[in-house]
Amino acid sequence: MTGLVIQDVTKKFGSIVAVEDVNLTFNSGEMICFLGPSGCGKTTLLRMIAGLEEPTRGMISIDGRDLTGVPVHKRDIGMVFQSFALFPHLSVGENISYSMRIRGHSRSECEDRVTELLDMMHLPGVADRRISQLSGGQRQRVAIARALALNPQVFLLDEPMSALDANLREAMQIELRKLQLELGITTVVVTHDQTEAMTMADQIVVMGKAKVLQTGGPMDIYKTPADKFVAGFIGTSNLLPAQMAGNDTVRVGGAELKVGGVKGDHQSGEDVLLMTRPEEVFVHPVTDAPPANAISGTVTFVRDIGATIEILVDCAGNEVISVLTPKDWPGVKVGEAVNVEMPAAACNVLAA
Ligand code: ATP
Repeated sequence: MTGLVIQDVTKKFGSIVAVEDVNLTFNSGEMICFLGPSGCGKTTLLRMIAGLEEPTRGMISIDGRDLTGVPVHKRDIGMVFQSFALFPHLSVGENISYSMRIRGHSRSECEDRVTELLDMMHLPGVADRRISQLSGGQRQRVAIARALALNPQVFLLDEPMSALDANLREAMQIELRKLQLELGITTVVVTHDQTEAMTMADQIVVMGKAKVLQTGGPMDIYKTPADKFVAGFIGTSNLLPAQMAGNDTVRVGGAELKVGGVKGDHQSGEDVLLMTRPEEVFVHPVTDAPPANAISGTVTFVRDIGATIEILVDCAGNEVISVLTPKDWPGVKVGEAVNVEMPAAACNVLAA
């Protein structure tokens, strides 16, 4: 069932265009991540869904209900802010049940819901504590519980992990995703962290300069990025200057390589970029039989970090990174001449 629809939405602040011509449709129950660098408009888009900003143009609907002109408190939305925005003078329980009390729920209803939510957030027995007596991770759980108190139709989170340290952040990403799957609630998370988006999202919306650059499942975007910005923003990529040679071949330096995918229409001879992911690139000593679909280069650095080994190779002035597991380790050394194999299925052509 169609859940969240953002149709032709533009938001201007005076002469600043924060969000431009955004069209997105998501199914009910999906976890969506707005991902992009600082200032690209992701928070503004989230705030428009929440009703904290009105679009200059366009329409937002949830489960078929047009939200134009609907005030924040009538949108059936739960929101977690970057700073958590908890009330320091209220107890944990009072924070969580705040919106219920405003809406006239009885004391026992509030208490039962607080107990249920604290159990769900693995924080039993802290209802009477002050916010100042909680750790950063516990505060975040309370902020999530507060946002879910009224069983909202849509759950919005603005950079929810930014106040947490790296280890806790990773654990919370997994926990938040598990919770979202359990509740089946349409959820939108704003983040500039690609690992966070890939850990949690059904759909990632990559934004840049007020526009949506690409929308898709994490692996679709990782495997077939729309352009060099997306390729560089999601994961590590090798981007080599190349020329189109045929429909599915490019010339890189002196070599001609077959490619698995081509983004856009490119004429023969046109300058393009050949994109590969480091884990799909293999390095072979020149003393081995030459592999198909390969370019030559010289090893400039080897970094062994146990689970993986990174090899940097200079290929006619362009650096190529290969990330291998120990079982594929070719045993090459810095300064050694190598062939860098880029299997056709791993090669994508992007506009230069
Ligand atoms: P960040 O990750 O830094 O929070 P963002 O991608 O969420 O960035 P937004 O906060 O949505 O970006 O801002 C998008 C653009 O709109 C920026 O240029 C910002 O300066 C501008 N902007 C946002 N809110 C306002 C406002 N209330 N008044 C004027 N300009 C604003």
